[in-house]
Amino acid sequence: MAEALLKNVWKYYHDDTAAVEDLNLEIKDEEFVCLLGPSGCGKSSTLRMIAGLETVSKGDIFIGGRNVTNLPPRDRDIAMAFENYALYPSMTVYQNIAFPLNIRKMPPGEVRKKVREAAELMGITTILGQGVKDLSGGAKQRVGVARALVRHPQALLLDEPISHLEEELKAKMREELRKLQRSLRVTTIYVTHDQIEAMVMADRIAIMNRAVLQQFDTPDKVFRQPKNMFVGGFIGEPPMNFIPCRIVEEDGKTYLQNSSLKVEIPGETLARMTPKNPEVVLGARNTHLKLSHAPLSANSFIGKTFYVEPRNEDAVVTLDVGDQQVLALSSFDFKTAIGDPVHIEVDMRRVSLFDRKSTESILGDGA
Ligand code: ADP
Repeated sequence: MAEALLKNVWKYYHDDTAAVEDLNLEIKDEEFVCLLGPSGCGKSSTLRMIAGLETVSKGDIFIGGRNVTNLPPRDRDIAMAFENYALYPSMTVYQNIAFPLNIRKMPPGEVRKKVREAAELMGITTILGQGVKDLSGGAKQRVGVARALVRHPQALLLDEPISHLEEELKAKMREELRKLQRSLRVTTIYVTHDQIEAMVMADRIAIMNRAVLQQFDTPDKVFRQPKNMFVGGFIGEPPMNFIPCRIVEEDGKTYLQNSSLKVEIPGETLARMTPKNPEVVLGARNTHLKLSHAPLSANSFIGKTFYVEPRNEDAVVTLDVGDQQVLALSSFDFKTAIGDPVHIEVDMRRVSLFDRKSTESILGDGA
């Protein structure tokens, strides 16, 4: 059992600004969790506290039920691989992988067996005799992970392990790491600033911003039900459209309204809605908007084409709507030229709604 539990964890460095603020995380045994967020949000500090490479200013960390808060890294039974590999350049691949076992004075026969196992797992048995200096980025990465895994740690911590690799190799390594993690069933905590990486790899994503955890959920949930505007805007490409509106009631119906649109809120969305005040922000992904030359329903509003960016199967269309711009996805056969009026229909069952002041979502699960 190697669940990891962070309880009210804080990190201060040299001043009173918290690098990590009151973080609570419950990572399950065998789970693959990504810590995701912009640079400086506290991801690495969190990982380094779990590893024992940074002290915890306040709070507790448990691994496999054991309070490790004040234990040195070597007593935590976890392994860490960094972006810069931290391999010993003067040693061979074999010596690098064997290193954590040798410093623990494991008998040589056992070391040989474990190194071979780890090398087989990572597909690097043929390069065991080579020096690590001249290896490619991908090969160094495999050696780093093999060295981390050779001790069969309770948890594997990875800090942006592949962010420096080229796109093609990155995609391959993501898949490899994920497969490996599944077959080893090792609890893994993976730091990345790349939302795509987190979306394709993680069982659950912990999204941080400015030292504070924003949401901890499955990729699907953070995409479909962002807890606040930060998460809505951070996840998804192109980013979510944020349209300030007001909730108004008229003739027994409820609408979202501003100077350029008025759309009805359907019953199923209303049932999930708990507005604290009528000033809200409509969060619509480009895929929630449908474009046409004629009004599709009473729920459409008008924009003017500002820019069209063709992609393979579709196009991203930037539209002027009142005094703001909105991004929509159009199918490839929908033709529009700059300056054209376009009708935009919004799928009000799939959108997000946020309180304008607090920026928190006002939509529950509806379960
Ligand atoms: P991330 O990994 O999300 O980029 P970090 O955890 O590295 O974020 O940093 C969080 C905050 O803590 C930043 O403001 C950063 O400048 C600060 N910080 C990180 N490491 C140190 C350190 N060793 N000394 C002082 N401040 C640090």
